[in-house]
Amino acid sequence: MRRVNIFGATGSVGQNTIDLISRAPEDYDVVALTGASNIRQLAADAKHLRADVAITALDHLLPDLREALQGSDVVAAAGANAIQEAATRPVDWTMSAIVGAAGLAPGLAALQQGGTLALANKESLVCAGALMLETAKAHQARLLPVDSEHSAVFQALVGEDIATVERIIITASGGAFRDWPIEDLPMATLDQASSHPNWDMGQRITIDSASMFNKAMELIETKEYFGASSEQIEVLIHPESLIHAMVGFTDGALMAHVGPPDMRHAIGYALHWPERRHLPVDRLDLARIAQLSFRAPCETRWPALRLAREVMETGKLAGAVFNAAKETALDAFIAGQIGFTQMAEVVEDVLDTMTAASGHIDATMTLDNVAEVDHVARQTATRALQKRAG
Ligand code: NDP
Ligand code: MG
Repeated sequence: MRRVNIFGATGSVGQNTIDLISRAPEDYDVVALTGASNIRQLAADAKHLRADVAITALDHLLPDLREALQGSDVVAAAGANAIQEAATRPVDWTMSAIVGAAGLAPGLAALQQGGTLALANKESLVCAGALMLETAKAHQARLLPVDSEHSAVFQALVGEDIATVERIIITASGGAFRDWPIEDLPMATLDQASSHPNWDMGQRITIDSASMFNKAMELIETKEYFGASSEQIEVLIHPESLIHAMVGFTDGALMAHVGPPDMRHAIGYALHWPERRHLPVDRLDLARIAQLSFRAPCETRWPALRLAREVMETGKLAGAVFNAAKETALDAFIAGQIGFTQMAEVVEDVLDTMTAASGHIDATMTLDNVAEVDHVARQTATRALQKRAG
């Protein structure tokens, strides 16, 4: 029996993880499940999986969670500290699927226990990649990618010497506005941005796919996880979302990872690694699919990609600034305060302001410094938003 924690259990990745674990309950001892607002789902899954503890990130929802768990043995808890405490419990495998920078501290705490951390929370690597990798190494923990592109690269590298890698290609569907005239993008609505052509995901990452901020984050994630340089990493628009990534080697060979757009593949790979086990995902009928298409991404349509390149060049804590500015701009778009294309403008403003001021971006990468930079970047983004409103 493997002891497992699932952070962000009520989200899209969390629910897919629970789907896999529920198929073989005898194999898993579920310790903690965490969520935030979706108390009904959190309580139902915690009871069904007989978790030791269910935690909501939101303190004021503790009474609701207690009520929903009545009659079961599951302990109810609330708040970021309770999530942090759960992350210090010794488990074999942890799913990190909280959305946003809030996933960083629990992920680091889990790595310090020395087990396996299956990482969906890409923000951890964008904000503090070096710290994540150093912590894993120091505690002999295993950090496995769950983002589909990174899982694909990881799988293409099995048995290969990383020194023979020439380039890494991560694919992008192009999101909701792939084929829109560029001049219409400023008018894109929240509803339009919240629907993805191929993947069924949480709302924030779906909007980030439309703006390509998701791919921008993944560029940084690729650099941090695989130690590749910006020049070695390419983004390729691939509308069918069947090839998730390709790795090019010094002999010119390209190894592509092909599969249906179903997160249960990448999650299952990280769950069973180093073994491969049967997974309930569709098998592709390539003769029926008949053709796959590709095109180069346009940086005018998607300025987030250019910004990510700048962040990769700057390094240090620029990723934490980028992520915090992006999260704040995304909140403002969801709240109807700014238009779709203004998200990238705000992020660029914040990067320019904080790079010019230096100090923050050059600080040593510790959890405290990342939290401080995150805080300052959110304040700077809020000022940039106010400037636009006023
Ligand atoms: P969702 O929005 O569907 O779920 C997010 C989860 O985090 C929910 O459990 C939510 O709780 C919880 N949560 C929200 N805010 C907080 C907070 N402040 N503190 C603690 N928990 C919180 O997101 P996804 O599942 O789509 O994505 C999760 C992560 O995985 C993201 O980093 C995303 O970029 C990454 N990812 C997702 C993919 C996907 O297919 N969805 C693919 C690749 C990566 P509640 O819902 O109860 O409010
Ligand atoms: Mg991805």
